[in-house]
Amino acid sequence: MLSAARVGFLLWTLLGPLGLVLAATSAPNIVVLFADDLGYGDLGCYGATAYQTPHLDRLATEGVRFTDFYVSSPVCSASRAALLTGCYHERVGISGALGPASTSGIHPDETTMAELCRASGYATAAIGKWHLGRPEQFLPLQHGFDSYFGLPYSNDMWPFHPGVRHLTPEERAKRWPPLPLLDGNQVVDPEVSPEDQKTLTGRYTRRAVDFIRSQRETPFFLYVAYSMPHVPLFVSPEGEGRSGAGLYGDVIREIDDSVGSILGALTEEGIDGNTMVVFSSDNGPWLSYGKHAGSSGGLREGKGTCWEGGIRVPFLARWPGKIPSGRVVREPAMTIDLFPTVAGLLGANLPSRRIDGVDIWPLLADRAGAESPHDALFFYFLSNELQAMRSGPWKLILPHRYRSFAGLTGRDDGLPVEYAMREAGLELYHLEDDPAETKDVAAQHPAVVEDLLRKVEVMRGDLGDRLTSRKGSGNRPAADSVQPPKS
Ligand code: MG
Repeated sequence: MLSAARVGFLLWTLLGPLGLVLAATSAPNIVVLFADDLGYGDLGCYGATAYQTPHLDRLATEGVRFTDFYVSSPVCSASRAALLTGCYHERVGISGALGPASTSGIHPDETTMAELCRASGYATAAIGKWHLGRPEQFLPLQHGFDSYFGLPYSNDMWPFHPGVRHLTPEERAKRWPPLPLLDGNQVVDPEVSPEDQKTLTGRYTRRAVDFIRSQRETPFFLYVAYSMPHVPLFVSPEGEGRSGAGLYGDVIREIDDSVGSILGALTEEGIDGNTMVVFSSDNGPWLSYGKHAGSSGGLREGKGTCWEGGIRVPFLARWPGKIPSGRVVREPAMTIDLFPTVAGLLGANLPSRRIDGVDIWPLLADRAGAESPHDALFFYFLSNELQAMRSGPWKLILPHRYRSFAGLTGRDDGLPVEYAMREAGLELYHLEDDPAETKDVAAQHPAVVEDLLRKVEVMRGDLGDRLTSRKGSGNRPAADSVQPPKS
């Protein structure tokens, strides 16, 4: 059966401008903008005051802003796997942050958002940080994208990593291989330098704008995964000092400019009204980097923890005329929900394999009575550790060790300080009353704890839990470039 998007495209081909009008009433272009390590409190519309983010704030005033939006894990690769597959990362076997020498990647039997869109006749482009497998078989072109430009993994996995920059070049080279820049599957710069990193946000933006301008007659899915504001921070010479709030503010300001350029291109091409633009971040701020880290906006802890500061992120969505403007949604949702939401908008079938996300279009479109489609959301970190879950206003913390930045002060020169390691017990927080998770109320609500633990047990049976030595029945393997799994 032809999808709605394909029907629109065929009508455009057959009927010209009339077809475009019809396409405009069917399925939108999809633009997903995804920042790296940008904190919950890093945008003006989420309370940042040290610098301005006018274009991102515009997404909020002209669209919808979610207050309780989550990633599935507070770390890069796991979070990106969840976004692009609509599954908890544990279901698709990608956890943590894949290093340059990792042989893992998304299994070819999984369906990515790009493959979903391409099957509906969409042109697809990935720009920016990939971080879902360096071997060629796992790069974006092999996962549904027509084109790709960017870094294959984090910009700190590099001989100039903040942690090794005091070493000699020879010693650095032993720790990290040169960082390549890719165009498609090809390396176009084998050794990205600090000067090159200053150009990344600008180059990603130009690629995104060029892609939009080349696609005005076909529906498209554009995924822009900014390398910033992941450390080490870099900004263009033009952007230096622009925010008045130091390097971190300058970097955010440049991302904001990029969003402005992308919105401007959509308007100039006359497709603004037929494009849904969403913005989010892969995890919270990397607090040990001090003034080179973002803000959790008062939430507890940051990246690398399942406290709210690590997993709750900004989420903005704008589609003029379809997503009512200026709304704030307080219902919990997660990046995994974007996949089925896009599928719904395209009229595409969901994959035959189970996914965990649920269509949140009713929340985006302000349908009467719309509420979170999730009875509970679960947070795994490290290797299959189920560390926390949320159900309604309640957050249950499961006993685990975590790295803490509480009471510590970071440096201002781009180098990290050591975290303290702490132990969490079985703890309960009421996030509507206490979003900063300061008051453990487990003792006052034993029945709630018992009920949430029942849900946790179901999840442990599904996706496992190393902390309680449980094996799941619903985990699917990642692919391995050295030892291909049987599927
Ligand atoms: Mg990240």
